[in-house]
Amino acid sequence: MSSELPALYSLGIIGAGQIARMTHQAAVKLGITPRLLAEESDDSAALAAPDAVYSHPDAIAMFAESCEIITLEHERIDIGLLERLEEGGVCIRPGTRTLRAAFDKMHQRRVLLNRGFPVPAFAELRGPDDLMDFARKFNFPVVIKSIRSGRPGQRSVWIVETETEAMRVMSEQGHRELMAEDYQPIVKELVALVVRRPGGNCRNYPLAEVIQQEGAVHEIRSPAAVGHRVAAEAKELATRIANELEAVGVLAVELFLTTKGLVVNELAARPHNAGHVTIEGSPTSQFENHVRAVLDLPLGPTRSVAPATVTVNVIGGHDGIDPADHLGEALAVEGSHVHLYGKRPAPGSKLGHVTAMGDDLDQAREMARRAEAALMGRRHW
Ligand code: ADP
Repeated sequence: MSSELPALYSLGIIGAGQIARMTHQAAVKLGITPRLLAEESDDSAALAAPDAVYSHPDAIAMFAESCEIITLEHERIDIGLLERLEEGGVCIRPGTRTLRAAFDKMHQRRVLLNRGFPVPAFAELRGPDDLMDFARKFNFPVVIKSIRSGRPGQRSVWIVETETEAMRVMSEQGHRELMAEDYQPIVKELVALVVRRPGGNCRNYPLAEVIQQEGAVHEIRSPAAVGHRVAAEAKELATRIANELEAVGVLAVELFLTTKGLVVNELAARPHNAGHVTIEGSPTSQFENHVRAVLDLPLGPTRSVAPATVTVNVIGGHDGIDPADHLGEALAVEGSHVHLYGKRPAPGSKLGHVTAMGDDLDQAREMARRAEAALMGRRHW
């Protein structure tokens, strides 16, 4: 009997953070053990996956050779390298056509604009003159963004109110490729998750709402508290974008609901933080459906299993509290689902999340917040 695994199961994941950790867990449930390309031995998924490959990102080509299909959990990879691998026959899912749109915000904006999708006005910033031209046309505040994703925790968006502020950001971030964007009057921040198989079969998750606190995503609510028309429009936008880009796997479409309607903020061609809510909130999580899609297996149902599901992120504070030390108190909050990523506590770092379901959003939120407060050693007001 051959000891070789069937090719279908030879899945590699580039990256070993918490997204890879949860994707790995979902694959293991299906009897598939993906290989991982970690950057550090204490990356969240590397701690959970015994055969993680600890390596410098330069080793991507070697890693790709050892897997039949590869997928990615982050955007910090040279797209040119991936394109060369794909040309050489490596099966990358989603493919580089989709990944280029997710990795490069300028390219993304151009592609979306050309296909008629609603995006904020934007311009590439080659120097201060470009910024001043943009501000003259669209007025302050102006949003300055790094065109490519930074390292985890590295800031990539600055909302500037004045010329002086804008010049300071331009000079401090001069080493990065930057773009300007028109400031949007945001009413709600939404995420439409769609998962697509290579042949085009798609499923949509219920629209989620993202609540920010101190510049970081604090809470995810599903379904988003929006009307049927907005929810249907968001679903249709996400599906059309996934089809246009021939995405495979999860495509997360971050949307702003503005006073003028829906606008696309960003695309992520991978499971998304807002989709943690699907682990308990849907019959098939975004992670499992991502694995199914990239292996071209039938997708599972994506509907909500409860009237309301809320996920609260567990973010490291300056007090150095380790949520792992308070696991018992959090697990005592019955009905909450605790996820810890095995990371060392650091201020601002996402150490885990808690999900709870309820008859309405308030009930679900209350329970998730109680468990999160317990993890962080706080009494819940
Ligand atoms: P990141 O990739 O760092 O999450 P995003 O593009 O999602 O960057 O932006 C982060 C946050 O900045 C958004 O969630 C939103 O609150 C704000 N933001 C981004 N772009 C705009 C914009 N054009 N107008 C107003 N606010 C914006």
